[in-house]
Amino acid sequence: MPVTKNVSITAVVASRQLIAPNYHTVYLERPAQFNYAAGDWIDLEFSPAVQGGRTYSLSSSPTEPQLAITFRAGMSQLKQRLASLQSGDGATIVQYGNDYGFQLKPTKASTLIAGGVGIAPFRSMLKNLVDTNGRADVQLLYLNSNDDFLFRHEIETWQQQLSNLRVEYIVTKDLSRKKREKHIASLLNDTNRQFYIAGPPGMVANTQTLLSSIKIAERDIKTDIFGGY
Ligand SMILES: Cc1cc2nc3c(=O)[nH]c(=O)nc-3n(C[C@H](O)[C@H](O)[C@H](O)COP(=O)(O)OP(=O)(O)OC[C@H]3O[C@@H](n4cnc5c(N)ncnc54)[C@H](O)[C@@H]3O)c2cc1C
Repeated sequence: MPVTKNVSITAVVASRQLIAPNYHTVYLERPAQFNYAAGDWIDLEFSPAVQGGRTYSLSSSPTEPQLAITFRAGMSQLKQRLASLQSGDGATIVQYGNDYGFQLKPTKASTLIAGGVGIAPFRSMLKNLVDTNGRADVQLLYLNSNDDFLFRHEIETWQQQLSNLRVEYIVTKDLSRKKREKHIASLLNDTNRQFYIAGPPGMVANTQTLLSSIKIAERDIKTDIFGGY
């Protein structure tokens, strides 16, 4: 969806769940007539105002009844506020959409590369595929520092429904950069695909460089850079 700016949409917190050590998902009641596409983000504000990063990919799919955002607990005021939200609390969506074409192309095979909480927009895309009986050819490379892969159980269930979904889980904590890149490159033998990268800035930049080194054209790489880490 294109970006919709300067809105003030109240979203009421339905619940908050600790989904892994240090990671939360906040579920928001879906505001009336709030339409979005899988891969979109929202900008959230709170009253009284809190400082800190405020753009969050929607980890929910448009096919689900609630909106969801997923984040790592942090020190900023905003993170502390997010991590203490309770059912019934209010937040304001001030902007939402997607300005980088971060959406699956139904006619082209895709490779999604997630770094940590960068899995959020990909959860949205995969759940949307499941719920719409999508047949798209999708490869997910999911890099995480440890074994606590968010949404792993759901993704494994969806794999049984999506015959064209392949997933590789890559624990990075014991891999040197060279070994990690060699491993990722070995999984990218089909380069005629649309590539999507989401995660912290360093991970996105390193992965972009790696894709360029194996001759993936810039136009075939879409990124969601989770600034602020
Ligand atoms: C398109 C887009 C989509 C995004 N989607 C997501 C998403 O789905 N999930 C997600 O988690 N993030 C997402 N982000 C990133 C998000 O917007 C935040 O930038 C990020 O979560 C960091 O937020 P923070 O600054 O509140 O966090 P923190 O983790 O609290 O802080 C970031 C850094 O500042 C330091 N810091 C903060 N406060 C203090 C303090 N008081 N004293 C000392 N040091 C401090 C921390 O140590 C850390 O290094 C997205 C960003 C974009 C642009």
